[in-house]
Amino acid sequence: MYQTVIYETPAPHVARLVLNRPETRNAQDTRMLYELNQAFDRAAQDNDIKVIILAAAGPHFSSGHDLREQGGLETMAEFQTVGTWCGFGCAGAEAQMAREKEIYIGFSERWRNLPKPTIAQVQGKCIAGGLMLIWPCDIIIAAEDASFWDNTVSMGVGGVEIFNHPWELGSRKAKEMLFTADWLSARDAEKLGMVNHVVPPESLADFTLAMASRIAQKPLFALKLAKEAVNAAQDAQGRTSALQTAFALHQLAHSHNMQVHGMMIDPSGLSPAVKR
Ligand code: ZN
Repeated sequence: MYQTVIYETPAPHVARLVLNRPETRNAQDTRMLYELNQAFDRAAQDNDIKVIILAAAGPHFSSGHDLREQGGLETMAEFQTVGTWCGFGCAGAEAQMAREKEIYIGFSERWRNLPKPTIAQVQGKCIAGGLMLIWPCDIIIAAEDASFWDNTVSMGVGGVEIFNHPWELGSRKAKEMLFTADWLSARDAEKLGMVNHVVPPESLADFTLAMASRIAQKPLFALKLAKEAVNAAQDAQGRTSALQTAFALHQLAHSHNMQVHGMMIDPSGLSPAVKR
C-alpha cells in the first residue's frame, strides 16, 4: 500500500508504522511524510487500534529531511494536502513557507494531537528532521545506541521547523544543543525527560511492544482524555504560540539565506559540524 512506510499490527489493538527507507537512513522525502501521515490517519480512524508505535527500519532512526530530493512539488500533487495555505508554487518566500507549513509543522502538530497514545521507538542516529517525527509522539523509547542532533544553527537557521526544544530539554539544555550542535546521548535525553526509557538495542522492539500492549488494555476514551489533558497543560504554558513564533523566525532565516547566499541555508558554518 505504501512505498516508504510499513503498516503492521504486531499485537491486538497496536499498530506499528515503520519508516522504510533504510538505504537512505530513513531520510524524509515528500512521499515518506505523506505516506506516514496516511498511515497515522489509518491507525487513528481504525476503532480497533488503541496505541500506535512509530519505528524505523535499519541501523538509524532518521537522517532528517532528504536534502537530495528532486521534484518534491510534483510528489505533493499526488497527495491530498492537509492544510489550507496552498501557494506551494508561489514566488519569493511564500512557496517555502507554504511547503513547510504543510509537511513539517502541519504534519508534526497533526500527529502530536492525534487522539491515541503514540510511542516512538528509536535506534541509532536521529538527526534534525528526525526529531520532528519523535517529538510529536507521547512516549519515546530509545536504544542505548540512540543519539539526537539538531545541527540547523550550523546551517544558518535557528532550529528545526518544530521548535519543541525548550519543552523537551528545558531552556538551558535546549540552548546548548542548538548553540554547540553537540550530539545528545540517549542517557542524557532520558535524564532531561525527553526520553522515557533507554533499553539495550536487542530489547528495543519487545520493550516498546510490551508497553504498547499494556497501554492497550486501558479504555481508549480514558487514554484519549489523559492525552488531551497533558497536551492542554503544555499548550496552556504557551507551547503552541511559542512554536508559531519560532516557525516564523525559521522562515525569516530561509528568506535571509536566500537573499545573502542564494540558497535556503548558510553553508559557511556547515563543514566543521559535518566533520564531527
Ligand atoms: Zn525549513
